[in-house]
Amino acid sequence: MNSDPAAAHLELRQAVREFATAVIKPLAPRTDHEHRYPREALDAAAELDLMGILVPPEYGGAGLDHLAFAICIEEIATACASTAVLVDVHNSVASEPILLFGNEEQKRAWLPRLALGEFLGAFALTEPASGSDAASLKTSAKRYGEEFVLTTNAQLPGAAGVSCFIVPGDAPGLKVGQVFEKMGLNGSPTGELVLEEVRVPAANLLHEEGKGFTVAMRALDSGRIGISAQALGIGQAALNEALAYTRDREQFDQPIASFQGVSWMLAEMATRLEASRRLVYHAADLCSRGLPFTKEASMAKVFTTDNAMAITTDAIQLAGGYGYIEDYPFERFFRDAKACQIYEGSNQVQRIVIARELLR
Ligand SMILES: Cc1cc2nc3c(=O)[nH]c(=O)nc-3n(C[C@H](O)[C@H](O)[C@H](O)COP(=O)(O)OP(=O)(O)OC[C@H]3O[C@@H](n4cnc5c(N)ncnc54)[C@H](O)[C@@H]3O)c2cc1C
Repeated sequence: MNSDPAAAHLELRQAVREFATAVIKPLAPRTDHEHRYPREALDAAAELDLMGILVPPEYGGAGLDHLAFAICIEEIATACASTAVLVDVHNSVASEPILLFGNEEQKRAWLPRLALGEFLGAFALTEPASGSDAASLKTSAKRYGEEFVLTTNAQLPGAAGVSCFIVPGDAPGLKVGQVFEKMGLNGSPTGELVLEEVRVPAANLLHEEGKGFTVAMRALDSGRIGISAQALGIGQAALNEALAYTRDREQFDQPIASFQGVSWMLAEMATRLEASRRLVYHAADLCSRGLPFTKEASMAKVFTTDNAMAITTDAIQLAGGYGYIEDYPFERFFRDAKACQIYEGSNQVQRIVIARELLR
């Protein structure tokens, strides 16, 4: 196995790192503290083709592979986790299903606009009573001739009856309900979508009627590579800041990094991160090569996100009291990392996926 990034991937990493450090990182504290949508960062990302990473050039995107995608998300998350999840979801679970399951007309209609960043893609699967058990969703779709009418909170279709639709944000009847106050990722709004008899043309049905669960599960498989890369970036940011802080901070007349108890914690953080990186790149490489990668993506997600929590917790500890206050970025890393263990399938659900793949 060789999933080491090739020269082109390393060049890409360097370019995205320079961009993220110069443009995205300076906005990160304000994005978090003011719960501010990072519009400038997203506009700048679109200029660099980062809103169409996986979209082939014939549809206006960069046409890169999943390893390149993971590297881009990792570098953006090292600068700002909120911006990273917006870019990640847009590229993966919002755009990729159209690439994988869309017909030619749908690809031509939506992918160039998504790749340009003309609008931001979202993915709506969870309902108030349907989370890990995603097949228990209640939103209904009824066909009337050449239209479907979508309504939340109707009957129970069951997994076989789930269909997937491309719904424009300005579709009549589509409303944003409560926008939640969260513990982290404050620049990335999370809220309810209310569908009151939303009419969408039958041409917006993605894949076949009743095959929407297949679309969602495949989208989440590669989506998990993106979430793992996001956690990797958050962990890297925590390690970078912890290294700088412990070199600079002096107690007992010496930098605290010179104490073995501190340096061993840094060594442990770096080791967790490197092992995580190997798993993420391996899953991404399998996906890029068209090989089965469901188990590996779930392993990457569990390992990387659990380790991001451990690394960000240790980073707070290494900064002592300053780690706990908002003037320093450590507590933000910790709050942002937590979501990665929950969304796109909780880490318990990932363990179910891994075990199922092992035992089948
Ligand atoms: C910041 C954020 C952004 C989000 N964005 C989106 C989005 O854009 N689109 C979207 O559709 N959803 C989104 N979600 C929802 C997210 O995907 C769900 O929260 C997640 O799938 C878990 O579902 P739940 O919250 O209903 O928890 P539940 O399914 O109720 O689970 C609660 C707990 O029980 C555990 N559990 C459940 N079933 C099992 C089992 N069989 N075995 C063992 N443990 C189990 C879970 O792991 C969890 O610990 C977002 C969530 C967050 C936090």
